[in-house]
Amino acid sequence: RGVSPEADVNDDTHVFYRNPFSYYPTVARGDGAYLYDEYGKRYLDACGGAVVSSLGHSVPEVVAAIKEQLDHVEFAHTSQFTNAAQEKLARMLTDRAPGGLNHAYFVSGGSEAVESAMKLARAYWVQMGRPDKWMVIGRDQSYHGNTLGALAAGGNRWRRAIYEPMLFKAPRVAPCFCYRCPYDKKPESCGIDCAEDLERAILEAGPEKVAAFIAEPIVGATAGALVPHPDYFRRIREICDKYDVLFIADEVMTGLGRCGSWYAIRQFGVVPDMLCLAKGLAAGFVPVGATLVHDRIVDTFSSRRHIFQHGHTYMGHPLAAAAGVAVIEYMETHRLVEKSRKLGDELLARLHEALGEHPHVGDIRGRGLFVGIEFVADRDSKTPFEPELAFHRVLRETAFDNGLVIYPMGGTVDGRRGDHALIAPPFVITRAQLGRLVTLLVKSIDQTLA
Ligand code: PMP
Repeated sequence: RGVSPEADVNDDTHVFYRNPFSYYPTVARGDGAYLYDEYGKRYLDACGGAVVSSLGHSVPEVVAAIKEQLDHVEFAHTSQFTNAAQEKLARMLTDRAPGGLNHAYFVSGGSEAVESAMKLARAYWVQMGRPDKWMVIGRDQSYHGNTLGALAAGGNRWRRAIYEPMLFKAPRVAPCFCYRCPYDKKPESCGIDCAEDLERAILEAGPEKVAAFIAEPIVGATAGALVPHPDYFRRIREICDKYDVLFIADEVMTGLGRCGSWYAIRQFGVVPDMLCLAKGLAAGFVPVGATLVHDRIVDTFSSRRHIFQHGHTYMGHPLAAAAGVAVIEYMETHRLVEKSRKLGDELLARLHEALGEHPHVGDIRGRGLFVGIEFVADRDSKTPFEPELAFHRVLRETAFDNGLVIYPMGGTVDGRRGDHALIAPPFVITRAQLGRLVTLLVKSIDQTLA
């Protein structure tokens, strides 16, 4: 696997690896949709790491923009200065956002963006004279980050498990999951019963306590690109409005062109009160996150008596902001949002053609270059593989050996682990590379099952 034979990387190492039982090859360089390890082995990056590298690797324009910012100033604390790059990036993000989301709160990553949104929701209701409102309702099979607040709002039960006592207690509702509809209905005639779960949860918790509802427009890592019913979020918005509950759209994965529009929530015709971004925002060149905030929330913080008591040292970092500006400019120049939409349609079609009848592929779904595949032991009953088989893990290893990087995940299926893979390549992937991606994926699936 490209690991140096004489170097037992876990032995005399100073790095505490993400997974101390895994051996990772050393990445040496990147170019477009490819990464290369220190021995020159080439990997087609079919998931942008973790849906991060949407422009591909080593884009000279972005590198130049970061260097240019470094030549001027590297850092000035946001309690003392603003900087031109963050002012420009805020304008670029809000210009592309649905109406009213006119402010950007910059942080360093997705978890921080979610924490900021949840605390801002709480602070907003305190300003509004509703101090009992604190609770954030999230959904099962969703992930909002690894900090304690974000973990509490999310429904990734394996990540939560040992931290349960440290997490705030709030209800979670089921996501809209048409392939495995909890009500056993068909999308054409379902009446979006799953959205009504939110109303039930709010009433059970007490609307006077509920500050916000958080959801990914298209669920990513924990469920493999779950696209909801076209009317789901309209109903969610109505329920939130009825009970004075803010709606936070977590677009850390789905935002910035990934699903074929600047923001995925736009495709569902609603405006959230806050919208969280990270990953594709600086496309992996530097760490950055942002929470876009609606006017009506920011307006309540407009006097010296009302300050949002929150902040991180590196918020609004000039290098992160300069990278973000360069990323958006590059996307505009190369029409990458449109490309994500078109290539995404093509990828879905190719996957359906190659795997649509496969006995162990239950569902292929997604929007833009954000595509999920759900693997099953049995197609008719939709029964997942036995967890001991660790299907998605073996698939990842096999694909990696074949020079293909995918993002596999064991989401929850009927209370058990199910197997998904997320395919989210850089938007600059060529059509030939897209073909290679599908070929390597099919080969890896067959080898895993052999
Ligand atoms: N929200 C979503 C939807 C995510 O997918 C992630 C990361 N996978 C996060 C939040 C957390 O982002 P980060 O890892 O940058 O803290």
